[in-house]
Amino acid sequence: MEQHNNRRIVILGAGESGTGAAVLAKVKGFDTFVSDASLIKDKYKQMLDKYGICWEEGGHTERLILNASEVVKSPGIPCDAPLVLKLRKQGTPVISEIEFAGRYTDARMICVTGSNGKTTTTSLIYHIFKSAGLNVGLAGNIGASLALQVATEKHDYYVIELSSFQLDNMYSFRANIAVLMNITPDHLDRYGHCMQNYVDAKFRITQNQTPDDAFVFWNDDPIIRRELDRHGIKAQLYPFAAVKEGGVIAYVEDNEVRIDKPIAFNMEQEELALRGTHNLYNSLAAGISANVAGIKKEFIRKALSDFKGVPHRLEYVATVRKVRFVNDSKATNVNSCWYALQSMTAKTVLILGGKDKGNDYKEIEELVRQKCSALVYLGLHNEKLHAAFDHLGLPVADVNTGMKDAVDAAFRLAREGETVLLSPCCASFDLFKSYEDRGDQFKECVRKL
Ligand code: ADP
Repeated sequence: MEQHNNRRIVILGAGESGTGAAVLAKVKGFDTFVSDASLIKDKYKQMLDKYGICWEEGGHTERLILNASEVVKSPGIPCDAPLVLKLRKQGTPVISEIEFAGRYTDARMICVTGSNGKTTTTSLIYHIFKSAGLNVGLAGNIGASLALQVATEKHDYYVIELSSFQLDNMYSFRANIAVLMNITPDHLDRYGHCMQNYVDAKFRITQNQTPDDAFVFWNDDPIIRRELDRHGIKAQLYPFAAVKEGGVIAYVEDNEVRIDKPIAFNMEQEELALRGTHNLYNSLAAGISANVAGIKKEFIRKALSDFKGVPHRLEYVATVRKVRFVNDSKATNVNSCWYALQSMTAKTVLILGGKDKGNDYKEIEELVRQKCSALVYLGLHNEKLHAAFDHLGLPVADVNTGMKDAVDAAFRLAREGETVLLSPCCASFDLFKSYEDRGDQFKECVRKL
C-alpha cells in the first residue's frame, strides 16, 4: 500500500463544497488533490487553477487518493461508493466539508436541518442576523460553501443549511444553535431503506453540543419527540409548536406569535411575511434562533415581517384568465407537497411526478381528495401515480414529454378561480436538470400562456 502523507488532503467531488474544501486545504498548507468521477464545471476548474490545486475529472486515480491522510467527501457521493468503502477499510478518515471547515473558524454556528423547510428557515435566520447588522455568512446547501468562506472571509456567525448527507460525515463539529425542523421519510434510497438510519443522521446535528448551546425543534413531530431521549442531548431545549401545550416555549396565542425564552417576544401573526402553517414553524424556528443569539426584539420583528421568501417554494407566479399559478418545484418529497396542498384556499389542479425516491402517496391521498379538482402526472414513469390516485376519479392528464405540455394540460383542466400548483413530490432528474430548472420552465411556460 502507498505511504500515507500526513499533510495530504484529497477531496472527492468538485462541486461547490468540494472546491471550497480544496481551497481551504490549500490555504492551510496541505498537499491538496481533487478527484471527480464526472466532469468538473468550468467555474470550479478556474477556481482550483487559481489556487494552484491539482485536480482530475472523469474518474478516480486510486493511487493518488488512497495515500491521503484524510478525505473530504462531497455530500452527493454515497457512503457505500466503492472508493469510499476502500478508504474506510484502510482506516482513512472520510469527513464532510462542513466538518473540515469547522476546524478553522471560531465563529458561532447556527445550523438548520430537517426533511423540509431548511432553506426557508436558514434564509430567514440569515435575513434577521443581517438586518440586525451582524457579520454573518450563509452556507451549506445555499450560496458559497462554508469552507470557501472560512478560507477567504471572516464572519462572526454562520447560518448553515445541513442536509442529512452532510451530517453523515460530521464527527467533531459543534453547532452553537441547532435547529431541527421535522423528520419525514426522504432519501431512503441512500439510507438502506431504513428510516432509523435517516433519523439518526438528522440527530447528529446535536452531537458535541454542550449546555451552553441551544437545540431548537418542532415539538409536534412524533419522530423528534420519540427520539429526544435517545440522543443524550446536552444543549438547552427550545421546543416550538403552533399552540401552547406540552412545555413548548414558542407558539401562537391570541393571534400573536410568542416566544417565552430566553427573552419574552411577541408579534402579530398577521405581520409575518411568510404564510401557511409550515411557514409559521419556519418563522418560529428563526425567531427563537435570533432570540437565543441575543438579537434585539425590534430587529427580529422587522425582519420576520419584511422577508421576501425563497424562489420555488410556494412561489406565486401569475394569474392567467382567473387561474392562479403557484411554483412549489422544491417540493421533492411527499410531505412538502402535503403542506403545499394544506395551504391552498381554492380548488387546485396539482402537477406532480418525477423521479420517485421511494414515495408513499397515501400521506396526501386525503388532501388530494379534498383540495384537488384535477391531476397532471409529469414524469417519464407515471405508473405509480396512476396506481395511487386514479381511483379518486379526478380528471387526470398523463404527460411524459415536458413542462409545456404539463402546463397546457393543467390550464385546460383548471376552471376560473382555481389554482394550478406545481408541487411534484419527486426529484426532477428524469425530465429536468434540477428542481430550479423545473420551476424556471414552469414559470416560463405560465408566462407564455
Ligand atoms: P428544504 O431546504 O428542507 O428542502 P425548503 O425551505 O426549500 O426546504 O422547502 C421545501 C419544500 O417544503 C417547499 O415545497 C415548501 O413549501 C415546503 N416546506 C417549507 N417549510 C416546511 C415545513 N416547515 N414543513 C413542511 N414543509 C415545508
